[in-house]
Amino acid sequence: MIQGKEAEQQIDMYEKKIFDLTQLIEISKSLNSNLDYNALIQSILYICMGQLKVLKAGLFARKDIGSQDLVLHRSQVGFDMHAHQQYVIHEGNPLLDYLHDHPKSQTLDDLQSAIGEEPLDPISQLQPVLIIPLRAKDVINGILILGDPIQESAIPMEDRDYVENIAILAGIAVHNAFLYEITTTDVMTRLKLRHFFLDTLSSQIALSRRHNKTMSLIMMDIDHFKALNDNYGHVVGDEVIIGVSRIILDNIRQTDMAARYGGEEFVVLLPDAPRSTALQIAERIRTAVAQALFTYEDASCSVTISMGLAEFDPYTDLNSQTFIQKADKALYESKRGGRNRTTTAADLS
Ligand code: GH3
Ligand code: MG
Ligand code: MG
Repeated sequence: MIQGKEAEQQIDMYEKKIFDLTQLIEISKSLNSNLDYNALIQSILYICMGQLKVLKAGLFARKDIGSQDLVLHRSQVGFDMHAHQQYVIHEGNPLLDYLHDHPKSQTLDDLQSAIGEEPLDPISQLQPVLIIPLRAKDVINGILILGDPIQESAIPMEDRDYVENIAILAGIAVHNAFLYEITTTDVMTRLKLRHFFLDTLSSQIALSRRHNKTMSLIMMDIDHFKALNDNYGHVVGDEVIIGVSRIILDNIRQTDMAARYGGEEFVVLLPDAPRSTALQIAERIRTAVAQALFTYEDASCSVTISMGLAEFDPYTDLNSQTFIQKADKALYESKRGGRNRTTTAADLS
């Protein structure tokens, strides 16, 4: 039987193991309950920073359906990025094959001596101390990079084992969230699909009722779009729809949701926003659209957009349909009143 100091060390070791495993169960629960791709990646980075005590963390992850390229996600923390550098690991980069066959964590030096410097170009400028592949279904679907450990210059071996376990959980969670993201997003505009919006709206209505919270809805429709299609053709029309969608996305917060409601009709759901805030956002989008010049090959054109805005009222908006109809009526009023304007439902009697 072991006794004294040795026994104490063993107890310490087992206590640490139990602690690590309990933490891993918590991490697993938290990662698996998050289907929002961007929020999930952010939470993976913060978990790694907290657990491994590092000041820098980033994840190269898939951005597009139909491409296996891994792009450094914008929620990276601490790494110095250069404006003209591309942080993309392209499909076919030998690094991906190497990591596929060597699933453990690696240092930059290890990787450079194994596959040379060039494949590591997108990573090496960032000078991470540890590189950990994520995988799902036997495909590398992410590369985690960590840098600037607080306590030592390198990450100790037992921490490397630990982060490899986190990476196993993270790889599957990222895969599921990516699938969820692409099946709920309109490929052309990157806005959410109508059915996903309607589903989210129903849940938001239930939440707003329960917590007595306000929220607003903006409906938008491009003005005289048939004429634009007739004059410039459908391809230019499509580019305009894509450009308008970009403007909408650039002008809302992460917690807001923009969806393509119909061909050239859009909705923005603003949880927690009273109509005054929603009006500011609607006007910002409307003016940005009116000022934009959309170009495609030799053609360039501009468009305007009409808006209808409604704030949720738990007494009169009995379900999502009545709430949508309220915003739609306001939109109709904007069209009737001359287009390129925002009407608030509350101003109609
Ligand atoms: P209004 O100002 O009243 O909205 O006039 P409008 O011409 O925009 O009328 P409406 O909204 O009814 O017309 C929408 C047109 O948008 C009809 C359809 O041909 C076109 N459209 C719908 N989806 C797409 C698309 O994905 N691409 C292109 N190019 N056109 C589309
Ligand atoms: Mg329309
Ligand atoms: Mg229209």
